[in-house]
Amino acid sequence: MKLRCPSCGAREVGRLAAAHHYCWRCFVEFTVGETGVEVFEIAEDGSLVPLEPGDSRPVGVGTGGWRKAALPGR
Ligand SMILES: [Zn+2]
Repeated sequence: MKLRCPSCGAREVGRLAAAHHYCWRCFVEFTVGETGVEVFEIAEDGSLVPLEPGDSRPVGVGTGGWRKAALPGR
């Protein structure tokens, strides 16, 4: 089974760990679990910023439809 990036739909997806994948096209990391897909943006400091499935309005380059989650207290 070949995964596709949930953000941009590219097939250029690498595997980081069992359920951890990385998109070479839009540079997001995502996990695929039983409950669904979670997408993360990799911040400059290397931390993962969770993205939420947004509306049809793409925000920023590469995040096609996924946007940064509102982080409480930031
Ligand atoms: Zn992608």
